Amino acid sequence: MSTTYDLVVIGAGSGGVRAARMAASFGAKVAIVEEYRVGGTCVIRGCVPKKLYVYASRFHDQFDVAASFGWSVEASFDWRTLVDNKEKEITRLESAYVANLEKPGVEIIRDRAVVTGPNSVRLVGQGTELTTRYILVATGGRPNKPDIAGAELAITSNEAFDLPALPHSILIAGGGYIAVEFATIFAGLGVHTTLIYRGDCIMRGFDEDLRRGLEAGLIERGVKLIYQTTIDSLARDGSDVAVTFSDGVTAPYGAVMFAIGRSPNTEGLGLDQVGVKLHSDGAVAVDAWSQSSVPSIYAVGDVTGRAALTPVAIREGWYFAETVFNNNKMAVDHSQIPTAVFADPELGVIGLTEAEAATHGDIDVYLAKFRPMMNTLSTRTERMILKLITEKDGGKILGCHILGPGAAEMIQLVAIPMGMGATKADFDRAMALHPSAAEELVTFKAPSYTYRNCEKVGG
Ligand code: FAD
Ligand code: NDP
Repeated sequence: MSTTYDLVVIGAGSGGVRAARMAASFGAKVAIVEEYRVGGTCVIRGCVPKKLYVYASRFHDQFDVAASFGWSVEASFDWRTLVDNKEKEITRLESAYVANLEKPGVEIIRDRAVVTGPNSVRLVGQGTELTTRYILVATGGRPNKPDIAGAELAITSNEAFDLPALPHSILIAGGGYIAVEFATIFAGLGVHTTLIYRGDCIMRGFDEDLRRGLEAGLIERGVKLIYQTTIDSLARDGSDVAVTFSDGVTAPYGAVMFAIGRSPNTEGLGLDQVGVKLHSDGAVAVDAWSQSSVPSIYAVGDVTGRAALTPVAIREGWYFAETVFNNNKMAVDHSQIPTAVFADPELGVIGLTEAEAATHGDIDVYLAKFRPMMNTLSTRTERMILKLITEKDGGKILGCHILGPGAAEMIQLVAIPMGMGATKADFDRAMALHPSAAEELVTFKAPSYTYRNCEKVGG
């Protein structure tokens, strides 16, 4: 093993792997250090296994409506089969990541790394010191747990994928992406699921109509919601966990899961000792080119606290390599990021919410609520929601918000015209595709209501 490099990347997740591959393809001598599994959070215990589990949980709804189409289905579910097949798939992906790193000549080092200077990294296990022109910190984040008695009895998303067996019931704390997605997963797989959130409605920061629609969808699927309450302590109660809430009530659950946000992985990494500025939450402070306050040290992905999403980490890693190793200075535009919550119903968004847009000037809001066609033969009453927010009188599209089947796929495509600065007139020119839910986006006639001088008019 060599000990002198052009680039040492710490962390083989979404951002680090892309940066290492690209830098090596530009001719740099690159090592990537990983303490756990190549692929990082997304592949090993994030996006990929999560979406596989979402697919598993959605059969519940499919079986439910199947009867209205004449099918009779006798269904049973085996957790071990899902866990084992998930493991096979992420192991396959991990091997593909390793191969893709090795192809352009990246050296993979299995160890924990610590930064010891602007141009040096120590391998903790091997005790070796590496010298390098540049260091890229791509160490991601880790799930938070509150500082309460019995916190060690609870799981996080890290453990949720590999539970030895499904619990009979679960209490999930949090009201963001992970809490809502796992509530869907566990409820769909037949676990009595309760979500406890400190605020008054899940998914704070998302569009109000969609938050309420998603909330209704969770309730329809049997998820119990407890609002404006927190967990005071946990204690062992036989094979259950007894939870004491902030209102003094105590109740037992088969499992308790915290999904209350994630913290950047900078603890013990040595960054502060070498003069790298960190934000108060520990995230690495970087400029538009992902450069830290120490010129030879860059950081990308979740560890920078910008937008904790895989495509963002990948783009930051790619642009870092372009900037530093291809003489092509590129800064990621974080202003228009499509995102989805893979819950049931599914939520996909891009751009401003109605509340945000209303403060930016006069806007028009186009809103459609209808039963997805798939449900029309059954007794299900759930509504799909599509909302388009534009500058007034057919101007630029400012936001698009979709709740219901296929929302994520639709939003990814809406991101293309929005990135080109599309107007309502551009959408109107597109021929509708019938019958589809997405056709609503190109057939809106008059606005459902407007905002003039920040005041809602009509609706
Ligand atoms: P990571 O992928 O976390 O990689 C960091 C790597 O660094 C890890 O492998 C870690 O082991 C390693 N490491 C840390 N410290 C050291 C050290 N000192 N030495 C050596 N190695 C070290 N995003 C989406 O876009 N869509 C989704 O659907 C989605 N679902 C998610 C579901 C869950 C449950 C979670 C937790 C996250 C999800 N995300 C999703 C977010 C996404 O996974 C992250 O944004 C993305 O993985 C960040 O990539 P990264 O490269 O910054 O860090
Ligand atoms: P989020 O930031 O999405 O949500 C955290 C939730 O926990 C919020 O409801 C927050 O409440 C609540 N919370 C925060 N601190 C506390 C506390 N001390 N006590 C009680 N509740 C608390 O984080 P997640 O952990 O769900 O996910 C982390 C990130 O990973 C996401 O932000 C997202 O970027 C990424 N991710 C993306 C996914 C996707 O793309 N589909 C899926 C999963 C994760 P409040 O709102 O009141 O602050």
